[in-house]
Amino acid sequence: MGALPMSSTISRRRFFGTATGGMALASAIAVQAHRAKASDASQLRKEDVRYQDQPKGEQDCRLCKNFVTPNSCRVVSGAVNPNGWCLLFQAVPK
Ligand code: SF4
Repeated sequence: MGALPMSSTISRRRFFGTATGGMALASAIAVQAHRAKASDASQLRKEDVRYQDQPKGEQDCRLCKNFVTPNSCRVVSGAVNPNGWCLLFQAVPK
């Protein structure tokens, strides 16, 4: 038993090189997935829809189709105040 032949050494290097590259790729994909969850690109920014923390007349988030209890919205990113309002308000049918 002694040193492995050169071809075995190269194969091992390639194997570990490929494995390391694969792990780096997997990590990059996991980071991207986490970022996608943290900020859903399909949602709009509050400043783009003139969101405000106060109701507008008798309209507020609690009465909107897009509101999700307790404090989020299907179309606007971030937490929203149940008493808030924005341009995308859509009244829940009575
Ligand atoms: S008023 Fe705007 S922020 Fe509030 S729930 Fe409706 S769409 Fe979302």
